[in-house]
Amino acid sequence: MRIVAAHAHTVRLSAAARSSNVSFEDMTASALAIHTDVSKNGKQLVGLAFDSIGRYDHSGLLRDRFIPRLLAADPQDYADNDGGIDPFRVWDIVMQNEKPGGHGERCGAVGLIDAALWDLAAKRADVPLWRHLMKLEQANGAGPPVAEVYASGGHYRAHNDVEGVCDDVRRAIAQGHRRFKIKIGGVALGADLKRIEAVLAVLEPQMSLAVDGNGAFSRETALRYVEALAAYPLMWLEEPVNPLDFESHRELAEGSIMPLAAGENLFSADDARNLLRYGGLRRDRDMLQFDISLSYGIVEYRRILDELSERGWSRRRCAPHAGHLLALNAVAGMGLGLAEFAMDTATLFGKLTSHVAVCDGKASLPQAAGVGFEATPVFSEIFAGLLN
Ligand code: MG
Repeated sequence: MRIVAAHAHTVRLSAAARSSNVSFEDMTASALAIHTDVSKNGKQLVGLAFDSIGRYDHSGLLRDRFIPRLLAADPQDYADNDGGIDPFRVWDIVMQNEKPGGHGERCGAVGLIDAALWDLAAKRADVPLWRHLMKLEQANGAGPPVAEVYASGGHYRAHNDVEGVCDDVRRAIAQGHRRFKIKIGGVALGADLKRIEAVLAVLEPQMSLAVDGNGAFSRETALRYVEALAAYPLMWLEEPVNPLDFESHRELAEGSIMPLAAGENLFSADDARNLLRYGGLRRDRDMLQFDISLSYGIVEYRRILDELSERGWSRRRCAPHAGHLLALNAVAGMGLGLAEFAMDTATLFGKLTSHVAVCDGKASLPQAAGVGFEATPVFSEIFAGLLN
């Protein structure tokens, strides 16, 4: 199989939402299509990928550096032994002439190529990606495919903020969700506590709430929050301090029994290893949120899982950040803990998974071959213009 073309373009997310430090009004993401010279069921095999959220689009890096490397490669150099394309060999090809460390934004660009190739591989095998990954992971003892999910949102609004976040959670409950996450740190601590109390009052028995500081607190503010939040039954406190401040993570973990979640802004196996080595996180309660697409893709994520395994961490402690359909497939196919769904299904990112039925906190698994982008209601909005 030969790669004959690869096209990327920019998609505007244009969501009127903000966390403690980022507005999504101007946020962008990339869509990528990798075309091959092979047809299946009368259609050319095309691998598709769409960015995770939060780091802007990667089209420039793809066009200037990584797609030219991919197209210049000899097909023999990326062939698997079954006539298909080996994502592991492609990973090595596109990462030629790249120094180690300092991952910057290239990890998101490479992650898109990787994701498109996994979509392609599953389409070629005519199975959903989660099933394709399960086959690959069998030797690692992954259990039956389940996709436990949580509904993520609770961004700040300029008006009627507390009523708005409570309405969001009520709608997510009606959609079948049982776990929720809202932002903290966008207002003063006292106002955040009122917001948390209002949402907790909406929840029914067996439902749970996590809070997300988006890495914006100083060490001192984080310590104040941890002390104040100890009074509430929270599922976890996410990114309480800067993602690269491992020492403060360790201090917070040592000083509180509250579960922490971290890792969504670390984008490589190298960084994951450092968090596990120096962040003081606890295998019995803390969550690891490395973002698959933004961290060089599934090839690198399997290296991250190896790092976890070497240190005695269960895969069930993994809740990949904001990954939409790709992460949903990975959670089910690789035996991970939780997939993240956007609570607000009016945004483009929320619409991506709005067709996936959720019941009692579990998502139904996509049945179409590949990642399943073709089934999302925003398929043409994201991929139009890339398919010919
Ligand atoms: Mg987060």
